[in-house]
Amino acid sequence: MIEPFQKAIPLLNRIERAGFEAYFVGGSVRDYLLNKPIEDVDIATSAEPEEIKSIFSKTVDVGIEHGTVLVLFEGESYEVTTFRSEGKYEDFRRPKQVTFIRSLREDLQRRDFTMNAIAMTKEGKLIDPFFGQADLDHQIIRTVGNPEERFREDALRMMRAIRFVSQLAFRLEKHTERAIQKNGHLLEHIAVERKLAEFKKLLNGKNRAEALNLLVRLQLYRFLPGLNNFAQQIEQVAQYVNHTDLRGEDIWILLGITSKLDNLNPLLKEWKLSNKEIKMIRTVYEAYEERRRRKEWTKELIFRFGPEFCIRAEQIYCAAHGEKNSESAEKLHQIYASLPIKNRSELAVTGNDLMGWHSRSGGPWIKETLEKIERAVINGEVENDKASIKGWLDS
Ligand code: ATP
Ligand code: MG
Repeated sequence: MIEPFQKAIPLLNRIERAGFEAYFVGGSVRDYLLNKPIEDVDIATSAEPEEIKSIFSKTVDVGIEHGTVLVLFEGESYEVTTFRSEGKYEDFRRPKQVTFIRSLREDLQRRDFTMNAIAMTKEGKLIDPFFGQADLDHQIIRTVGNPEERFREDALRMMRAIRFVSQLAFRLEKHTERAIQKNGHLLEHIAVERKLAEFKKLLNGKNRAEALNLLVRLQLYRFLPGLNNFAQQIEQVAQYVNHTDLRGEDIWILLGITSKLDNLNPLLKEWKLSNKEIKMIRTVYEAYEERRRRKEWTKELIFRFGPEFCIRAEQIYCAAHGEKNSESAEKLHQIYASLPIKNRSELAVTGNDLMGWHSRSGGPWIKETLEKIERAVINGEVENDKASIKGWLDS
């Protein structure tokens, strides 16, 4: 067994010694069977949260109402979730209350897709009542049970299906696909935060072009924040992102470009991105706009935005304009490295120097003059030392 599972075996042993069952489940088992790297090992158990807390000395209640306890064990942390059935669903969302059960099979049955409903014992034996392995082999995304019912229980599963298309490049099983096409409107009942988490994963998947096209073809886009009028634009973005290694975050900018939004703020706010994320995306967008207007990366732009944001903006520019010969990242880094100053605070003169030289009191002229000096220094028109700058100003 591979390392992340191996490391967790003593934890499973402890739960079993206390008289309960415990298995590896969910995304980690799926990714292991696909030979993909595994991030978090999830554990399902017949023990109830309080029982888990009495077995382990260090635990954190991360989602105890859903049966999840975080166990800190030998330097790692593990989400340990009690077998549960989700009982009655309200309003097409996850139920507020869950029922803890002692049956693994029932727990697997409440999971979304067959590939996510496989359990593995600590000996590596698979428990796969819904034939998830066969679907993994055939690269098919299929709900556990009737897709209509499962999407009505929790409409987010439709978004999850498409993000798995993006991440895994699998196909949707026919009935699963039809049920999505029919039930997209149920997404309106889902909290934006949950949709955003899946959408971010979708934007970062290797098959995101196909996934974006599916959002349109299956009509889900109509029920996503701020995108309901943008079918063509989303398809355009899908074309742009084909074969690029753009960051997922930067695809928001392509959405802004194709939809002719001067201001991305309302869209990003509607999706509830954090202020930090919004600020970063806006800055890259500004860098892109400057690049587009000036047709090249000037020293001043590289100084203003820094090389990383310029590289991102350049990739966006090339994606949106079908340009293959982008300005190379090395070149932008080189130009940045050759700049005489990286920051305004490195200028050799200050406002006080200017006031002294000109025997004038403060005012807007200081800021203007400093900006003029900064430009000249960046462009190599004057050396960044006091005497040279004074001479240059006087000439
Ligand atoms: P990732 O690798 O992105 O974490 P994952 O499959 O592990 O993918 P999680 O959101 O971490 O996704 O969920 C863990 C498991 O919980 C899933 O594999 C699935 O079995 C189950 N699950 C998650 N969300 C739902 C849902 N909305 N409905 C039913 N089961 C779900
Ligand atoms: Mg997971």
